[in-house]
Amino acid sequence: MANSKYEYVKSFEVEDEVMLPNLIVVRIDGRHFRRFSEVHEFEKPNDEQALNLMNSCATAMLEEYPDIVFSYGFGDEYSFVFKKASKFYQRRASKILSLTVSFFSSVYAMKWKEFFPQKELRYQPSFHGRVISCASMEVLQAYLAWRQDDCHINNQHNTCFWMLVKSGKSKREAQDILKGTQKEEKNELLFQQFGINYKKLPDMFRQGSYFCRREVTFHPSNETHTINLIF
Ligand code: ATP
Ligand code: ATP
Ligand code: MG
Ligand code: MG
Ligand code: MG
Repeated sequence: MANSKYEYVKSFEVEDEVMLPNLIVVRIDGRHFRRFSEVHEFEKPNDEQALNLMNSCATAMLEEYPDIVFSYGFGDEYSFVFKKASKFYQRRASKILSLTVSFFSSVYAMKWKEFFPQKELRYQPSFHGRVISCASMEVLQAYLAWRQDDCHINNQHNTCFWMLVKSGKSKREAQDILKGTQKEEKNELLFQQFGINYKKLPDMFRQGSYFCRREVTFHPSNETHTINLIF
């Protein structure tokens, strides 16, 4: 209520505006999804339907929030990039973060049946998140390159780990075999022991998924069109 004698407590709210010209990025990540993926019997190392569900939630985010121009995700995480000059919720980190995690979590639960018609959602999935304030496009590029590198490292490790486990090794034995191995050794292990050419595994597993909002500019004279990312 306006002019209440208690209104002064409003000034105790944490100030958390992401200042211009920083770019706002939000990354969400499934809470305890190691357990969640076991309880819900996800295929290992990659459950394609679970990834499709994450991708569908990311698309729903872009549909709901016009200021999100780009998203990138793998496994149980997704990053959302807001347009440069976004004024969404006065650029307040806590508002934007809370909306992102709550919307994403509820879409995930609502869409579960669509992607897993045969599997009951056994408990409420939740996501944690953080805001990253990127000072420039270069920082944003480095951020996304870092996430994609993590996708690659995780996927390569998980692919080796689960191949070893499926071939009869215990989880501890598989861990010990992989300890300290470099990328090349892991590729070699997959090829020598299991005949797997890592590079031929699906792109979505190795590199993750992205969605972007695009502006399509048509050039009627030659019928071609150019596509520009809106930023
Ligand atoms: P935290 O709460 O700290 O995020 P976490 O258990 O979710 O804990 P992460 O590092 O986020 O830990 O790892 C995600 C886990 O979920 C991994 O164990 C990964 O194998 C599993 N997972 C996520 N998506 C899939 C998928 N599509 N298929 C198989 N497993 C998945
Ligand atoms: P914002 O996104 O800014 O929070 P809002 O539409 O949620 O926008 P609020 O000021 O939070 O705005 O108001 C909540 C609205 O929800 C009010 O219009 C209120 O009447 C309605 N509402 C919430 N709970 C109930 C309820 N239990 N019964 C009837 N109406 C409700
Ligand atoms: Mg997680
Ligand atoms: Mg994760
Ligand atoms: Mg409200």
